[in-house]
Amino acid sequence: APATRDRLRIAIQKSGRLAEPARALLTACGLSWRESRDKLFCYGESLPIDLLLVRDDDIPGLIADGVCDFGVVGRNELDEQAGERARIGLPQAFREFRALGFGQCRLMLAVPDSWDWQGPQQLQGQRIATSYPAILAQWLQDQAIDASVVELSGSVEIAPRLGTADAICDLVSSGATLAANQLKPVETLLDSEAVLAGPSREFEDERAGLAAMLLRRIDGVLKLKD
Ligand code: ATP
Ligand code: ZN
Repeated sequence: APATRDRLRIAIQKSGRLAEPARALLTACGLSWRESRDKLFCYGESLPIDLLLVRDDDIPGLIADGVCDFGVVGRNELDEQAGERARIGLPQAFREFRALGFGQCRLMLAVPDSWDWQGPQQLQGQRIATSYPAILAQWLQDQAIDASVVELSGSVEIAPRLGTADAICDLVSSGATLAANQLKPVETLLDSEAVLAGPSREFEDERAGLAAMLLRRIDGVLKLKD
């Protein structure tokens, strides 16, 4: 059984694209912390809600393991890890609670500029490099395409030039990186943004009330923004 706790713990990115907007959102919700910029843990002052500063990739797992109760993470990362859990037969342990309206990007399939794009069936038998193998494999299956997925942890966009893949599936915001690598985006696999992720299971202790309050406050802040 999960440990009982009377404080809520939220994981956010320590540094990177989502770090500042995540903190700004939680501050706008009335949360404050005992300042500890470079440390991993920020103790909640105004409310019993603490922060854990981590790598974004670790956030779904921290929720799954019950180390954290909520997290601010890209939908791309959350869906990928949910897909991976499903693939290896683990139960779904986390889910998206709210879309937060920042960190927008798209997970896209991109092919060399020279290709005359006719549609997904053109990928049949090709090698596609990505850091999102679970999302890509699911999409290929939905399209009934047999292609090989080449998993790379970074620099996915140079794979076609290196000859290690024919096409790529990567996050795109402006498209400048693709263009610089003579690639063009042709299909969108996922529209992503930062989301509040939390556990699939309900809280059975003090955290239930805190979680409900946090969600109400986030909804209030999001409403002010549109
Ligand atoms: P960490 O050190 O935490 O692992 P990271 O390098 O994986 O950092 P960032 O590059 O900061 O992470 O990206 C975090 C999230 O920002 C992405 O998962 C994605 O949801 C979002 N994002 C928005 N625009 C982009 C983009 N152009 N490229 C990559 N990610 C983007
Ligand atoms: Zn990361």
